[in-house]
Amino acid sequence: MESRSVVDQPRYRAYGRRHLDKLAKMEKLSREQLIALKAVSAVLPFRVNDYVLGELIDWDDIPNDPIYQLTFPQAGMLGRADFLRLQDLVVGGGNDEELLRLAREIQMRMNPNPGGQKLLNVPMVDGEKVPGCQHKYRETVLFFPVQGQSCHAYCTYCFRWAQFVGVKNLRFASRDIDALVRYLGEHDEVTDVLVTGGDPMVMNSRLLRRNIEPLLDPRLSHIRSIRIGTKSLAFWPHRFLTDPDADDLLRLFEQVRASGRQLAFMAHFSHPRELQTAAVQEAVRRILDTGAVIRCQAPLIRHVNDKAEVWAEMWRRQVAMGAIPYYLFVERDTGPKQYFEVSLARTLRIFSNAYREVSGLARTVRGPSMSATPGKVLVDGVTTIHGEKVFVLKMVQGRDPEWANRVFFARFDSQATWLDDLQPAFGEHQFFFDPYIRAMYEGVWQPEWAREAEDTGEELTA
Ligand SMILES: *Cc1c(COP(=O)(O)O)cnc(C)c1O
Ligand code: SF4
Repeated sequence: MESRSVVDQPRYRAYGRRHLDKLAKMEKLSREQLIALKAVSAVLPFRVNDYVLGELIDWDDIPNDPIYQLTFPQAGMLGRADFLRLQDLVVGGGNDEELLRLAREIQMRMNPNPGGQKLLNVPMVDGEKVPGCQHKYRETVLFFPVQGQSCHAYCTYCFRWAQFVGVKNLRFASRDIDALVRYLGEHDEVTDVLVTGGDPMVMNSRLLRRNIEPLLDPRLSHIRSIRIGTKSLAFWPHRFLTDPDADDLLRLFEQVRASGRQLAFMAHFSHPRELQTAAVQEAVRRILDTGAVIRCQAPLIRHVNDKAEVWAEMWRRQVAMGAIPYYLFVERDTGPKQYFEVSLARTLRIFSNAYREVSGLARTVRGPSMSATPGKVLVDGVTTIHGEKVFVLKMVQGRDPEWANRVFFARFDSQATWLDDLQPAFGEHQFFFDPYIRAMYEGVWQPEWAREAEDTGEELTA
């Protein structure tokens, strides 16, 4: 048998807030940086691993390095006054209790539950909520297994940050797949199940199989695609190479394919550097060899990837590796948004400049896309109509499928960063979906495909 060196078989090891002193020594962080990290990571989740530290971050370029910004909390992510209070406590060297109490207070002011997602999209079966599921768009059900609620490293911009720091309990995660299977049995309009987290790839293959195999039941023949939303290829490609269950995991992907379904690996890549290591390239090859497809998506984030050349290069590399560019997202309104946010106008410029640089094979990407309450809304362009400068918006995915591919207009606003900041153009008082969304919150409207719950007398917003 071939013997492999330790370097060939890296073992996953996570570093968090309590390893900061050690990390500072390893990577020569200044005393100032260390203090700032201790302060901010009390509020925002922090986790890295040897691969992120050793192969992705360029330590000669911190703090500007994009992967450092992606994974290491920065002073600017908090309000100045909050940061200074935390820093005082760190420098004062008092007990952690006081620091953590202040941290919790700051967390609660940071919109830990964005988007009205909680109330509106919980599916029901046999008069009960299906735990850990979300059914917002007719064809696709999201499933959040409880064992998949962490990640191989944490992104500083993550909109799920609240669950990683324990502000938000895991009401939103599922402990068992049975209720979902029963629900899907009654909903043949659903073609896709998207397993998400956190990152489902933190589960071992046995757990993952327990969550995926039941979906392959012949009675669920209307389920055509299993999607897995994950950043594991970027943060820990060894998951598919040398982790003890790597081969078994790939067998599971093959099993999905053998059932006649697509296994769509929805890979979160934020920067081309994440595609450059030998490990990620080999991992992509192994995943594609199972017959799975890899589709790539990420939000556009200031300090990380707010440059056209970064996206163009990322899409080119993805296509060359056999992966498919899918979505460029606008960052949601949560956590340290002011640190990361880029206006819609600038995001569109970056997207368009990148789009112009690549071949048609990379123009499968859609964006900039906002996952907003009525649906996924693309910022498709800026133009002038009858003397009024407007954003051309397009709903690519709506709560009501009738809304898909519908174009609408908002007054141009150079500062706007989200759909909520926009006003309808041409003197209109509301967007076409506004009355429906209002009625939905009032519990008096649902799209036709979702009306069953109403018919059985269940509350829309239970
Ligand atoms: C993006 C998204 C989906 C999937 O939409 P596609 O356009 O089919 O990729 C499903 N559910 C929710 C809640 C989403 O945000
Ligand atoms: S990998 Fe995804 S879920 Fe995990 S921290 Fe990053 S954005 Fe959040």
